[in-house]
Parts: sequence; structure tokens; C-alpha cells
Amino acid sequence: MNQEQAYSPFTAQTPCPCCGAFEGILVSTIDGKTDEKLLTVSCNGCGLGRIDPMPTESELEQWYESRYRQAYKGCEQPRMHYVLRAARNALDRYQWLLHRQLLRENGPSLRTLDIGSSSGEFVSLMVHKGHDAHGVEPHRGYAEYAQSMGLQVANGSLSSTLQAHAGKSFDLVTMFHVLEHLADPVSALRRIGACLKEDGILFIEVPDATRFTSPKYMFFKAHTLYLTPGSLQNVLRCAGFELVRLSEPGAGNVRWAGTFRGVSAQAATIPHSHELVTAQERRRWAPYLLHQAQKGEPFGKLAKRYGEKRVARRFDSPRELMDHVYGVPALLPGLTSPAPGARAGHAA
Ligand SMILES: [Zn+2]
Repeated sequence: MNQEQAYSPFTAQTPCPCCGAFEGILVSTIDGKTDEKLLTVSCNGCGLGRIDPMPTESELEQWYESRYRQAYKGCEQPRMHYVLRAARNALDRYQWLLHRQLLRENGPSLRTLDIGSSSGEFVSLMVHKGHDAHGVEPHRGYAEYAQSMGLQVANGSLSSTLQAHAGKSFDLVTMFHVLEHLADPVSALRRIGACLKEDGILFIEVPDATRFTSPKYMFFKAHTLYLTPGSLQNVLRCAGFELVRLSEPGAGNVRWAGTFRGVSAQAATIPHSHELVTAQERRRWAPYLLHQAQKGEPFGKLAKRYGEKRVARRFDSPRELMDHVYGVPALLPGLTSPAPGARAGHAA
């Protein structure tokens, strides 16, 4: 993007899905993966980053149903080293909840829903811990893969699934790297609120749009929203959620956990700043390359991937691999020994 266009005031074609404002600052004009034209705007009203024009819900649903995983992951079903990485991520997220007293090890069995459950690693972990765990995944191949492992994962769009689950039945709803793909996050979150029990917890993780990346990489078509700790909090307040726990800054992702109160903050009263603009101004090639060199990249990533492949090779099936990562399952009510098929293991 040339300097004349950079960070100029901009009137968007479609309104901000959080506060309704059209006015913003243009942050980027290019899709970093394809080099096609793609406009990204930071909202003057609430600081939320979004692409403009925003696609419709049905355009996005069609895209996710079939194309997304092939376009960006290159395969229909997960390879074993992806399962290993996803299982380790699932365990890390579970432990985040435990350490913040939002979940108890060996506590009562909870009814949980993982939205965008992918190949089902978090659902599988919650089953492993003795919970009545459900998932929903828009991609048919991944949903069928999770179902083939005996998991209660529905294949369908977010809207149709939430309609089916409305009625305050879940103790915990999780959504990892999903919110940044939605066109209308506030109404989706309100529908999720309607699925949560009184004092049920919503746990969200999104990529932190202020993280230090290459100047080119940050903006691409699969993400409709660019969330920062501040703008994520704004979107959730608008939808009627109240914060209980927020992750420390600088981790690359933002984790947010809270409860649904049903009382929306007025968009006009939301304090905002252009965190996205400040972060993009910091992204320059020379400091980025120096930062990569100091971190030992790209060799660190290659070594990590090689290590994952080496560990994954030791297992015959995803089930066996996940049991190893998740360790000994919690005893289910009425059982005096670990559930059938469970085996002792160590956190990988
Ligand atoms: Zn806004």
C-alpha cells in the first residue's frame, strides 16, 4: 500500500457490525496471501478492524462449508501432526480455565459446546474429563471425521446450530479462532448468550490483531474482523457479556472469558482507540526481520514441526494420540475405574 493511501480517513461501504459507524481509517488495501485488493478499516466509533465491504452471512457460510480448509490448510482431514498440535492447544486452553477457577478438575459433569470444533480435539478432551461435550463444525469433512471418533459434533452453520440449542442449556461455550471469521459478531454472541445457563461461561480465543507480524502478512480474506484486547471487549459488551478473565497481553492471541448478562452497552459510550493503526505503523520489514532472526525463525518453526511429526509417528490413531496428550481421564459418575479404552499417559 502506498503512503498516500496509508492511514487515511475512509468512509466504508458497509457499517461497523459493532457500533454501526461508516467512518474509519484505512489500514490496508491488499490481501497478504493473494495480493488481491482487500480493504481493511479501523472503526472510528469503536476501534474494531474489519474488511470492507463486509460479505453477507450466507456468502461466508457457503465459503466455510466447503472451501476454507482446502484453501488455507491444504487438506480435507487432519494429518496426525496437526492432531497433536490441536490436542496440545486444547489442553493449554483447558488449563487456562482451570488456573482461573472457571473449571474444576474432577468437578461435576458439565454440558459444553465448542463452536467451530474443527477435528474435535477440545470436544474430545472435555469428554475425556467426564463432561457431556458437544461441538458444531460448518465443514462437512471435519464434522464427519469428529463423528467417526464417536464425538457429538453437528455439521452445520453457526446460526442453524444455535437455533437448535437455544434455551440456556450449556455451562460452558467455547469458541477458538472463530469470531474473527464472522460478519455479524454481536448477533451471533447474543444467540450464544441465549444458549448459556445462568452464570455459564463463554470462553473465546482470537488472534491478537496488534501482534508483531511482517508488514504484509496481517490482513487476508478469511478474516472479516481484526480484534484487539480493547475491541474484543467492546464487541462482547455490545452483545451483553461481562468480562470475568482476560489474558495477559503479548501472547499473540487474546483469551476472554465472561458471562452473559443480556444488558448491551450503548455503542456510543464505548471508549475506543485505533489500536490496529498503531500496531500496523509498527510493522516494518527491517525490525521484523531482526525480530525473526533474534527468535531463530524460520528454523524454530521448522524444528517444531519436525518434532511434532516425530512424536505423532509413535501413534497408530488420533484417539491413541489424544489419550496420550490428555492423560488419565477423570472418573465418570458411577465408574470406579477409568473409562474403557482409556490409558495412562503423560502430557506431551
Ligand atoms: Zn465500530
